[in-house]
Amino acid sequence: MTKKQTYIEINNPRKVLTYTYVISLSVIAMLSIVVHFMLDHVIAEQSTTGKVVNVSGEQRMLSQRVSLFAVEYLTLGTPEAKFSALASLNKMQINHQNLLSDYYKALKDKEVLPLSVTLQNMYFKEPQNVDGKLKLFTKQVEAALTLKPGDLQGYENIKTGFLAMAKEPLLNALNMVVMQYEKESIDKVNELRFAQNVVLGIIILTILIEAFLVFRPMVDRISKFAYKLQYDASFDHLTGLLNRRSFNVHATKAIIASRSHKQKLGVVIFDIDLFKRINDTYGHAAGDLAIQHVSNILKESCRTADCVARFGGEEFVMLLPDMNEDDCFHLADKIREKIKTSRFQFENTTIELAISAGVAMLDEGQVDIEEPLRLADEALYDSKNNGRNLVTLYKNLNRGL
Ligand code: GH3
Ligand code: MG
Ligand code: MG
Repeated sequence: MTKKQTYIEINNPRKVLTYTYVISLSVIAMLSIVVHFMLDHVIAEQSTTGKVVNVSGEQRMLSQRVSLFAVEYLTLGTPEAKFSALASLNKMQINHQNLLSDYYKALKDKEVLPLSVTLQNMYFKEPQNVDGKLKLFTKQVEAALTLKPGDLQGYENIKTGFLAMAKEPLLNALNMVVMQYEKESIDKVNELRFAQNVVLGIIILTILIEAFLVFRPMVDRISKFAYKLQYDASFDHLTGLLNRRSFNVHATKAIIASRSHKQKLGVVIFDIDLFKRINDTYGHAAGDLAIQHVSNILKESCRTADCVARFGGEEFVMLLPDMNEDDCFHLADKIREKIKTSRFQFENTTIELAISAGVAMLDEGQVDIEEPLRLADEALYDSKNNGRNLVTLYKNLNRGL
């Protein structure tokens, strides 16, 4: 028997699915872009800090070079040594200027200062005061280089002047600046790494949330829609019975099963008698209800193995596996009787209904349902010709006589 199917009203979800899909993927794409830029920022940060640490480290080496060449000039009088000392001193000043250029610019434009307070203190405040020490160191070196080589008194002054400075306080201060730059760079990179992990966590969470709240309902919608399409393609909308297309699919399966089990297979065509009159007298709505009324009786009257279909209009077909012609005839006649005696009510009026039927059997060797259907239709025609409210077995037709 055909199961009653629940009809689901659902529109084509193409538009809403496309929007949901695009929005969900855009959220993930945007988060991925954030991660990308963060990573980019970490790399840029590392390369800038690398340069700063490098230049800052170079300052230590230059301070030693300046002292070495200045001493060589003062002791040996080598002009190249004086030149090298001045060149290294110049390079030191350029580096110093470059390291602080962003800071001075921000200070001038009243923007956020790019140097941490610790670094500002190291550059401009005691005890490190790199800026002050460097200026003093420059002044002392330049003064020393104006002395004549071999000037012992001047040389004594140097020992307590820039030489002492290059040995201890300036070197230490520059060391501390380098260490501070390194520390701040590591801190910053760690902060960015943490932020990157947080965003990565958010992406994974978003994907999980989307899977449960967006994609799962989306799949549900698609499967409901597919179910509706499948339902519409297989069942008659008015009665819930199989339509002709799915009847043929069932019939093919039933024929194969009957042949393999060597069982009989019967087919009955029913057609409501003088149905046009019902439509004409009570209206189309009454006709529809009459069709539903008859289809309910047909559904109630068949076994699970049987199948009933509406072939269009007020014509129905029943497929009866494992039943001989007498059984089929009696079942069809029982249904006819049921319909005849049933009370079909429409707007407080009882309308009399009658049905005619034709019965045929699948012959041995037949592989499709078309021929039995044609024969059952012929038998039905006979029922109509013989006064309606009748069941005719095709075998009993007296053809050609
Ligand atoms: P007969 O006893 O010879 O079968 O007479 P009949 O009036 O039933 O004749 P026929 O089969 O030609 O008429 C069928 C009518 O059923 C014609 C059509 O207007 C009507 N019909 C077809 N489908 C529907 C439907 O879904 N609803 C309604 N209300 N009427 C339908
Ligand atoms: Mg009819
Ligand atoms: Mg008809």
